[in-house]
Amino acid sequence: QLLTLNVATFDLPTLLGGAGLLPCGSMHSGRIVYIWAHDTHGSPAPPPCLEQRWQRGGNAANNSTVLGLLGAKAAFLGTIADSHEKRFLLEDFAKYGVNTEQAVVCEGCECPSSCVILSRANASRTIIHSNKNLPELTVEDFTRVDLTPYQWIHFEGRNVANVAQMIALVREHNKGLTQGEFITTSVEIEKAKPELEALIPLADVVFVSKDYAAFKGYSSMTETLDRVRAVAHPGAVVVCPWGEEGASACRGREVAVHSSAFPPTCVVDTLGAGDTFNAATIFALAHGSALVDSIRFGCRVAGAKVGVVGWEPLR
Ligand code: ADP
Repeated sequence: QLLTLNVATFDLPTLLGGAGLLPCGSMHSGRIVYIWAHDTHGSPAPPPCLEQRWQRGGNAANNSTVLGLLGAKAAFLGTIADSHEKRFLLEDFAKYGVNTEQAVVCEGCECPSSCVILSRANASRTIIHSNKNLPELTVEDFTRVDLTPYQWIHFEGRNVANVAQMIALVREHNKGLTQGEFITTSVEIEKAKPELEALIPLADVVFVSKDYAAFKGYSSMTETLDRVRAVAHPGAVVVCPWGEEGASACRGREVAVHSSAFPPTCVVDTLGAGDTFNAATIFALAHGSALVDSIRFGCRVAGAKVGVVGWEPLR
């Protein structure tokens, strides 16, 4: 059986408002269509669709959704097409309390979208992505943001040259600040793209996906943590979620910690599980939780997410 999803994406950093401070604006957007079709085995005809839905998407947009659900003062910074989807996207962010005031609206651009075909028979996901002309966030866009109110800035691993400069700007901003005033940076290394490696040494917290690990030939969470921490910033936290096996993490050279997964009674939608895990882990770390407690919280929230379709039932 097949399930099809369309996912519109455009994202960049997720900005998490500092505790007790009003969040600065940011921007976000995304959308998904979801179609569920019958079993194709032995059938010469194209499978009928069982179900379909539209959903906002994109990694940083999903991170923002989860941070909003958890009650964080979250804001999304990224580009958004000035297309007919814009209203849907902005209204959906608002539902989760995510600030979009600083959205970089790009006129004359089409909204990126993806068609995701999900198989109910074997849980496979086939994603066909289209991004015709929406530009990436520029360093100039980023410099327009007043960083002062933010406690944490999370970057999706893409747009490598610009993101590297944005992280450098945050480090510059941190100079001369006391420990409680620092902005923590994190980056997600998710896709199987060699250029993402350049971002690993830059951030304070590095999330490395199972897909990226497989692309690099790493066969376990332990191997991934050891390889990544060898090139990460000294003392950086490296976090590695691994599907049903849960997640592991380490800080600098310290002994790695692990959390098992928290499977729901029935797994119905794993799309965005990693985004959920990352956001919930950031939320816990930003509130001062220990590393092991933070990844356990990430696994708990991600476990709840895979038991429901989208995020709406968790509101
Ligand atoms: P992605 O969605 O990026 O492929 P993963 O599959 O690594 O991410 O999942 C991220 C986290 O989501 C895992 O660490 C785990 O906590 C949770 N998770 C994913 N799949 C399941 C599952 N089938 N049961 C329970 N938890 C899951």
